Amino acid sequence: MVTYVYDFAQGNKDEKDLLGGKGANLAEMTNLGLPVPPGFTISTEACRAYLKNGGEPDGLADEVSAHLKSLEEAMGRSLGAPGDPLLVSVRSGAKFSMPGMMETVLNVGLNDESVQGLARSSDNPRFAYDSYRRLLQMFGSTVLGIEGETFRDALDDLKKERGTTADTDLGVEDLQELIETYKAIIEKETGRSFPQEPREQLDLAVRAVFDSWNTDRAVLYRRQEQIPEDLGTAVNVQAMVFGNFGMDSGSGVCFTRDPASGDQGVYGDYLQNAQGEDVVAGIRNTVSLADMAEVDKRSHDELLAIMTKLEQHYRDMCDIEFTVERGKLWMLQTRVGKRTPEAAFRIAVHMADEGLIDMDEALGRVTGEQLANLMFPRFDEKAERTLLAKGMNASPGAAVGKAVFDWATAVEWADRGEDVILVRKETTPDDLHGMMVARGVLTSRGGKTSHAAVVARGMGRTCVCGAEALDVDAREGLFAVRNGPTVHEGDVISIDGSTGEVFLGAVPVTPSSVVRYFEGEDVDEPLVGAVRRLIEHADASRRMKVRTNADTAEDAARARRFGAQGIGLCRTEHMFLGERRQLVENLIVAEDYDGQEAALAELLPLQRQDFIDIFEAMDGLPVTIRLIDPPLHEFLPDLTELSVALAIADSRGQRKKRDRKLLAAVQRLHEQNPMLGLRGVRLGIAIPHLFSMQARAILEAAATRLKAGGDVLPEIMIPLVATVRELDIVRAQIAEVAAAVEEEQGIEIPHLVGTMIELPRAAMTAGKIAGSADFFSFGTNDLTQMTWGFSRDDVEASFFSTYLEQGIFPVSPFESLDTEGVGALVRKASESGRAVNDKLKLGVCGEHGGDPASIHFFDEVGLDYVSCSPFRVPVARLEAGRSAL
Ligand code: PEP
Ligand code: MG
Repeated sequence: MVTYVYDFAQGNKDEKDLLGGKGANLAEMTNLGLPVPPGFTISTEACRAYLKNGGEPDGLADEVSAHLKSLEEAMGRSLGAPGDPLLVSVRSGAKFSMPGMMETVLNVGLNDESVQGLARSSDNPRFAYDSYRRLLQMFGSTVLGIEGETFRDALDDLKKERGTTADTDLGVEDLQELIETYKAIIEKETGRSFPQEPREQLDLAVRAVFDSWNTDRAVLYRRQEQIPEDLGTAVNVQAMVFGNFGMDSGSGVCFTRDPASGDQGVYGDYLQNAQGEDVVAGIRNTVSLADMAEVDKRSHDELLAIMTKLEQHYRDMCDIEFTVERGKLWMLQTRVGKRTPEAAFRIAVHMADEGLIDMDEALGRVTGEQLANLMFPRFDEKAERTLLAKGMNASPGAAVGKAVFDWATAVEWADRGEDVILVRKETTPDDLHGMMVARGVLTSRGGKTSHAAVVARGMGRTCVCGAEALDVDAREGLFAVRNGPTVHEGDVISIDGSTGEVFLGAVPVTPSSVVRYFEGEDVDEPLVGAVRRLIEHADASRRMKVRTNADTAEDAARARRFGAQGIGLCRTEHMFLGERRQLVENLIVAEDYDGQEAALAELLPLQRQDFIDIFEAMDGLPVTIRLIDPPLHEFLPDLTELSVALAIADSRGQRKKRDRKLLAAVQRLHEQNPMLGLRGVRLGIAIPHLFSMQARAILEAAATRLKAGGDVLPEIMIPLVATVRELDIVRAQIAEVAAAVEEEQGIEIPHLVGTMIELPRAAMTAGKIAGSADFFSFGTNDLTQMTWGFSRDDVEASFFSTYLEQGIFPVSPFESLDTEGVGALVRKASESGRAVNDKLKLGVCGEHGGDPASIHFFDEVGLDYVSCSPFRVPVARLEAGRSAL
């Protein structure tokens, strides 16, 4: 017999799979002896069974009855009993936090009769009727699916009629009137009246939570956060405690450290006379924890003691929800809190210094993506700026874009390539889509714990919230700034998520302090200190080296400052662009061998100088130079453009001899599938002296550096090899050139010759190829293209969004390595290559070399290094370190 329901006292924090995050942590707090209102958790297993069968699994109802009975006994009251009713909350809680994505219903058990009982037993009729109207509102929108606006509008109308803007100004009779309005709305919208039977309310609420697993916004959120689809949510049924009892009650959210900056010291928001939802929705502005001490010192002090206890117990920053009911503190939720990248680095190092964790654990708690985020540019403080308002610094970054006031416009404008900032009074889960496409999010209400702040932080989206000086009117598409201008839809604004500032117009941006530190500047900032300590620890821990992909001396020098240990890929074709294109054209249109030689002779000194500069920048470190790879037509003009130009010239009777030759070359080199055509090693075999010229340039440059006292380690790399025969032919050419250059220069030039592995055939025959190669470098861009049969230049813009939506893969295989398919080839080639040649150096130079998940895979396979763009080098260092833990 499966068990579906667990009392809070039965679980612990490690049972998130079964009890969801909220349930597992409620159990943990219960067992720590903290003041948690009693209750029980209906497991994720029950949810999965419900979603699978389309109904409650057998036995669930009986188990709920049994647990409800114990709860009633513990509380000495019965659910919804007319005299002194027990009320419960019904809350979702999946394994991974999905803030605001799923349903919650509070005050379950109230009805026309028990509300009177509650009014009497609490001696507080206002509170009782307020609780009932909240139940109708939440039940109506979440369980019965009525538009939430309908209830909010009715509330606003009533407040307007009474000449007030605060809910708290509404008296008992107002609330009774509102209750009748709400009941009428429910009847009108659903054709049936609000269920008065408490147990029916409970069952329907549980069902609504199960169903909310599959709402559009929940599905979208999971896709965005890569949360598996099949986990299901748990449901927590808990005795209600009331923060809306009066001014001696309230609700709050707090963090044991500042989740935005990582500063030590507690951080939180408290709202008197309110239920939890009011705090998170930012409906009224909250006060700080310090101010809470003035209102209710006893609860405040007890809360602080519990916060310390929780942080010590979890050994991490905790995010806590609590309620005070008539001066008594209750803990409603805790979890390890989400934080900004800056806070993640600072908290990890602080905790290591405090002795709560060691440096390995600290390193495990930060990610390469967070580091990448910290390397984004910031607003230039010296630039002229027009400050409009200052809100909370909820999620860092510098975002510039056009103001839009609803999610649909955000999506529409972003789709046509515009940068937008989504501006709302407060966000709700419906805004998720808009938040995903926006550069940043700005709200006029709510604190750092509001929905906008929590979701934006999770996504790494810049967010400023609670900018109270802004009067946002979404219907009119504008916001008016107190004592300032009005900003309309489409006007450009800039928001700084690190300071909370909102500016008019586009503020220029400058490099981040973390980048300045990597560039070698002496930056005295706490964040930089934390980054330095963790990256140094990563360097000391990692086995894999990190190289860079760089084609110029400047990029090489920067990457070296960022910690690169050599070049893993220098794409020589990038050296043939600009003015040199003409020389490549000369080579292509040359009519005979001599013509080709003449063109190559002009290219040689230019190439040699390129390499001298790069070798100098990377002195003492290995430099992998790849011989020319792309199809030659890429260096020629476009066929249509050239044909048109020639037709015009013809009609004017002009003679264009060179253009005619070019046209012939373009036609000759035209291919249906150029990526599968004359490129890579095939070029080296079809036009042998092209590769020879490049090899000569490399070796002469190396000789020049050696003679100047430099230390060079050139690695000549052949692209797109499919069979060892190709490599052997080219290798022989290079050996000939090397012998000649060594003879001419009178000096031995140490160098390696190796190949890219970027075709499935090469991976499958790697054992043979390894016999002729000093190294392999996995070109996972082409290897992905060739393995999946996906044109890397087209598919991401065409059908990938459909593939992602349908869950065919969770992330583009060009972004994160498909370990199952492409990764299997990398593994096989590494193993068979090493079996033949135990000195074989192994690396990767496709884009995946800078992707955190892929880096962990390459470490596991045993590659010697990853190579990535200069800006990803610190990210790769950090991740290679984390992978070694
Ligand atoms: C690759 O294919 O992964 C690679 C690094 O080469 P390119 O991107 O230049 O084709
Ligand atoms: Mg390639």
